[in-house]
Amino acid sequence: MTQAFWQTKTLEQMTRSEWESLCDGCAKCCLHKFIDDENTTDETELMPTDHIGEDEQMNYSNIACYLLNDKTCQCTQYAKRTKLVPDCVQLTQDNLDDVFFMPPSCTYRRLKEGRGLPSWHPLLHKGKKSAMHKAGMSVRGKIVKDNEVDIDFFEDYIVTWPLNDID
Ligand code: SF4
Ligand code: SF4
Repeated sequence: MTQAFWQTKTLEQMTRSEWESLCDGCAKCCLHKFIDDENTTDETELMPTDHIGEDEQMNYSNIACYLLNDKTCQCTQYAKRTKLVPDCVQLTQDNLDDVFFMPPSCTYRRLKEGRGLPSWHPLLHKGKKSAMHKAGMSVRGKIVKDNEVDIDFFEDYIVTWPLNDID
């Protein structure tokens, strides 16, 4: 049986379209994350960061970017996203080291860690996302938007479900 490209190529070797097709569309990467840092002050508490220390822990919230469509789990302004949301993280083949900021179920992270595609991945279901939603692996039905809540109270929105992964 012919093997699929994700079984024969490394992430670095993939073409642009192969790379793009791997994204499961779960939208967990559109959730706000907070790093538990003992040394933080009131001023630095909500500042963006691009690194995490060994003794720090990443917490996910159920607060999603205001540009996310909460039914389709797609960005409503994909082409303009980095302009409209400067903190929008775009994982590419050039910043693969940042893959560990992604949730454990993220396809890129799974492949980087040698765990393959999960059974619910849209690529294994003719491109359909229904198996992913049914397995509870997307953000659908679980989020609030960052323009609807007071981000200062982020601790009230910390959740663990984005860390779930199955098979
Ligand atoms: S977490 Fe990974 S697989 Fe899921 S939408 Fe984001 S980039 Fe795509
Ligand atoms: S701009 Fe779009 S892709 Fe970026 S975090 Fe917001 S909804 Fe997600």
